[in-house]
Amino acid sequence: MEHKEPAKRPSCRDRQETIVVALGGNAILQPGQRGTFEEQMENVRKTAVQLAQLILSGKRLVITHGNGPQVGRIFQQQEIGAREGIPEMPLHVCGAMSQGQIGYMIQQALHNELLKAGCPKTVVTLICQSLVDPSSPAFADPTKPIGSFYSEAEAKKAMAEKGEVWKEDSGRGWRRVVPSPEPLACAEIEAIKALIDKDVVVIISGGGGIPVVRDSRGALSGIDAVIDKDLGAQVMARETGADVLLILTDVANAAIHYRTPGEKILERVSLKEMKTYYRQGHFKAGSMGPKVLAAIRFVEGGGKMAVITSLENALPGAEGRVGTVVVP
Ligand code: ADP
Ligand code: MG
Repeated sequence: MEHKEPAKRPSCRDRQETIVVALGGNAILQPGQRGTFEEQMENVRKTAVQLAQLILSGKRLVITHGNGPQVGRIFQQQEIGAREGIPEMPLHVCGAMSQGQIGYMIQQALHNELLKAGCPKTVVTLICQSLVDPSSPAFADPTKPIGSFYSEAEAKKAMAEKGEVWKEDSGRGWRRVVPSPEPLACAEIEAIKALIDKDVVVIISGGGGIPVVRDSRGALSGIDAVIDKDLGAQVMARETGADVLLILTDVANAAIHYRTPGEKILERVSLKEMKTYYRQGHFKAGSMGPKVLAAIRFVEGGGKMAVITSLENALPGAEGRVGTVVVP
């Protein structure tokens, strides 16, 4: 009887590289969509196909993601609910809700995708608390608008009664603003490392983590602030000792002289070169800026490679074959 060797492909159980993936907003919600559950789940299913390819090629994944539109909606739901007498939850609790909501969708979609591919694995979402420094200069100048627009009178009332900071937003009304401090560490890191060791796929650090401060006895408490998800992903990559930080967004490359006639996309770039471009201000604050900063910090801290590319490029990106690849 003829004996056939099974086709050789990398086993999904081989220990290979650990990759921290940062998913951009487009992985969950596309521009112009309303944001229904069905729309988001459909996007997440497509994202899961990309993520499964990474796992099937033998890589260990830690998944982080943005939460901007989702946490914004949850926050608005609190505002609307409050008018009906339902107690409002603070922003940091909304952040936890968004981690649960988005994590659940990714966790289910990825479970299903891996099952279909014959490589079932446990996928789990962890609520992640990101430690921030209460003496960070970010607290002196809150800049991130959250929630709906209100009248000047309503804004002044909230400032007086709740000690919140509100700012007038280019003639459109008043909005609450919160600080955006840097994430320093993740409170749940030991749990994450243990899960990675057990070959569990972890979804963590959604929206950069819930901002918390630690008191002198080590007790944690949530604060109303927002964290940049790319900087949160870099903390996760550093703390898990990941080989690669893979930042997936809606463009295939970072560029210098972006959207000018001299635009030049960046492919393989040395750390030194990238630091120069960053200093020269080629990357917009709040979008490409934090991605490049996260990439710089990761490689500077000993990471092998940081890649910024589009979601569709996940697998070749993780291998440094496409995208903007930052190397030591
Ligand atoms: P994400 O949700 O993935 O974090 P962002 O919108 O925050 O997405 O960042 C990606 C966007 O950054 C791109 O769509 C692009 O318009 C913008 N961007 C700003 N500066 C640059 C640059 N120098 N090169 C490439 N893209 C840039
Ligand atoms: Mg962004």
